[in-house]
Amino acid sequence: MEALQPVRGTRDLIGEDQRRHAYVVETARRIAALYGFDEWSTPIFEDTGVFSRSLGDTSDVVSKEMYSFTDRGGDFLTLRPEGTAGVCRALVSNGLTQSLPQKVFYAGPMFRYERPQKGRYRQFHQIGAELIGPSEPAADAEAIALGAHILDALGLAGQTVLELNTLGDLESRSAWRAALIGYFAERRDALSEESQARLERNPLRILDSKSPADQALVADAPLIGAYLTERARSLWDGLRTALDGFGVPFRENPRIVRGLDYYSHTAFEFVTDRLGAQGTVLAGGRYDGLVADMGGPQTPAIGWAAGIERLSMLLENAPAAPSAVAVIPIGEGAQASAILVLQTLRRAGIRAEMSYRGNLKRRLERANKIGAGFAVILGEEEAARGVAQLKDLGQGTQQEVAIDRLPAMLGTRND
Ligand code: ATP
Ligand code: MG
Repeated sequence: MEALQPVRGTRDLIGEDQRRHAYVVETARRIAALYGFDEWSTPIFEDTGVFSRSLGDTSDVVSKEMYSFTDRGGDFLTLRPEGTAGVCRALVSNGLTQSLPQKVFYAGPMFRYERPQKGRYRQFHQIGAELIGPSEPAADAEAIALGAHILDALGLAGQTVLELNTLGDLESRSAWRAALIGYFAERRDALSEESQARLERNPLRILDSKSPADQALVADAPLIGAYLTERARSLWDGLRTALDGFGVPFRENPRIVRGLDYYSHTAFEFVTDRLGAQGTVLAGGRYDGLVADMGGPQTPAIGWAAGIERLSMLLENAPAAPSAVAVIPIGEGAQASAILVLQTLRRAGIRAEMSYRGNLKRRLERANKIGAGFAVILGEEEAARGVAQLKDLGQGTQQEVAIDRLPAMLGTRND
């Protein structure tokens, strides 16, 4: 029979890939806890309305990337393409809109029907953080500082740059929107077909276009700065001051718009030049209208998400496989003692693996292959005396030791 293949755009995480992935998640989880963020897990699928209501009909995600299906009961469901909408839905469903602030960390798979390439998959994984409740720019700065701290803890601070922009409030944006429509309408013929179609409906989307033709026009398009209301401007000033206070360096980039419609005011991306076209590793912004879109009260919030695959690719050093102690019985009579040693070591917190097959040479080869630092070799006669041979596989040295001293000896030597 023909061997089955993984679905296009999905990947198996095995060995080093899985270790890199887990290291990113564990590091982020640890730093998020330092900032007082609690981890939430929301379902991987939601009613389609959770996403279609909030992300915007003309966003790439809603218009062409969602995995939507009708289930056996006739409900119209979607595999989550991002994490924020589900967190806001959960905030409302669980009656937490009156217990603010909520500081949420999450990690898990997301699904988008995109053209697979390096750093872009159909099932990918994100870590993310949402700070729901405060509207002060210091909260934006704190959420961004958390992202910067995680990148730093991963050793990626030097490889990424924070680019920052404001999208203003609704009033600023509608003035800017009118200016953009005016600008692009005069140059309609030079726009990509897709952008011509979105010109009237959502001209901001053109700024996020990946088409080179569009990008050439975008370079001279009107900037939001000229259209900011007084309040929007004061938040923008406050944000930059607060980021200085947190010691987070940034570069202003007036071209940043986010791919989803729910953002206002703060928008930011940590970018790298080491991943080609897929250079954005962590991105987010303020989304003051999203909780209300889910049927909750008007609730300010700021958050971000980062692609775990992209972060994993940037890690300089793959986390090493943990080393184990190999337990090698010689002869049937040593089997029972070997199992006893194995379980005693594991209960003492020492990773230990049983070697089942082959002669001593084969078993030592296998011990080296799994990266064992030590082997405990148990002969029948020795086991009866309560002793074993402890072999240091790095040094090649060997000594007889009392079995009951093994946990203490290996606990300190095997770290
Ligand atoms: P892009 O412009 O690269 O398509 P986006 O604006 O669609 O990104 P967001 O929705 O902001 O991305 O998601 C946040 C992060 O999640 C991205 O910066 C990226 O690191 C990661 N990401 C998004 N889509 C994918 C994907 N298909 N495969 C892998 N990672 C992804
Ligand atoms: Mg995208």
